[in-house]
Amino acid sequence: MGRPQSRMTRQRTVILEELCKVKSHPTADELYGVVRKRLPKISLGTVYRNLDFLVENGKIVRLVSAGAIRRYDGDITPHHHTRCVRCGRIVDIARPAHALSVADMVVPEFAAIFAVWLEFEGICDSCANLDRCGIE
Ligand SMILES: [Zn+2]
Ligand SMILES: [Zn+2]
Repeated sequence: MGRPQSRMTRQRTVILEELCKVKSHPTADELYGVVRKRLPKISLGTVYRNLDFLVENGKIVRLVSAGAIRRYDGDITPHHHTRCVRCGRIVDIARPAHALSVADMVVPEFAAIFAVWLEFEGICDSCANLDRCGIE
């Protein structure tokens, strides 16, 4: 960091604050809807640019998901996700003590490995309940 453009603008601060408030791993569109209440003049493009910046500077995480849509996480501590294949909601899983230890990983052409992000797929309770009712 320390690059001149790494300063936190008001827009960035608001986006970061709103993202850190929620556990829903929102999309840029969803975040835009919330941020616009505080910054009515902000554009979706600006939200995207600021999200990219925050990801590059390690302030937030962009979820690498098998689901096509990009989601963002204000929680940068190591944890895993489970994604519902029906509705796309993403829930945090606390990392169990016996989880994959990245410290022991040896990867060719990499001097060090310091993070792993896993995504599990499944069906959430509400989608499973709909199944039981026979509702599509
Ligand atoms: Zn679901
Ligand atoms: Zn998360």
